[in-house]
Amino acid sequence: MEFTEKALVLKVGRFRETDIWLRLFCAGRGMVTAFAFGGSRSTRRFCGCLDQLVLGTFRVGSNRRGTYKVLEEGTLLHAFPGLRSDPRKLGLVAHCLKFVEAVQIGSQGARPVFDLLLETLGTLEKSEVGAELLPLLFKAKLTFEQGLKPDLTLCVRCGRPAWDHARADYAAADRSSGQVQATPALGFSVERGGLVCTACGDKQVDLGAEPLSIGAARTLEWISASRPADWPRLSLEPEMRRQLGRVVDRFVAYHLGLRWEHGMYRKI
Ligand SMILES: [Zn+2]
Repeated sequence: MEFTEKALVLKVGRFRETDIWLRLFCAGRGMVTAFAFGGSRSTRRFCGCLDQLVLGTFRVGSNRRGTYKVLEEGTLLHAFPGLRSDPRKLGLVAHCLKFVEAVQIGSQGARPVFDLLLETLGTLEKSEVGAELLPLLFKAKLTFEQGLKPDLTLCVRCGRPAWDHARADYAAADRSSGQVQATPALGFSVERGGLVCTACGDKQVDLGAEPLSIGAARTLEWISASRPADWPRLSLEPEMRRQLGRVVDRFVAYHLGLRWEHGMYRKI
């Protein structure tokens, strides 16, 4: 079956003398591996397209028996020169590409992730996003785009608005101890899929819930509603960043079964 589609080249490798394989992230069908036979020699059919981080329109067919895909033609749309010339940004891009590849997006759900990835690359090419923030933002947003957006308004345990509980809890702690507690007033329970307050149930945050300050919970809500173009505006206190980093990492591990280890994503 032949198709022509916009795609981003995630990976490129060479085999035999002049042949090349590519891992493409196609806008409408997700991950596709295709072979460009004679690719390293043919400048006419693949003009500038056989390179990582190239956005192009690709025509893909298959071999006669239909056992593998063959790249027939490519037209270069954008090669992200602003990212290629900046090693720091390239490092961030590599992280995002590894994550997308590890998630193994199929045809379902490909389009929103493709749009998110392109918007992320476009934003990063034009402006600065904190190196410690970008992977966090991208991972959180991509996971939410998979239909896994957590409930960030209500306490998932008692069902009342999380902010009210947080405030009540805060005031109670203030009265009983005579001092304002700086400890996080909320928790994030990956298993329950959202916020848990400390004012309901046995007054303990769920066993295993990640502590989350009110500000960090609000930031998580902001992330879920944001687009990459908003991200350069965000700056976070180190403690808030740590809290969000832990929540997002656990969320990704729980829902997508992926963990970042030694510079790569590993299935767990
Ligand atoms: Zn509650």
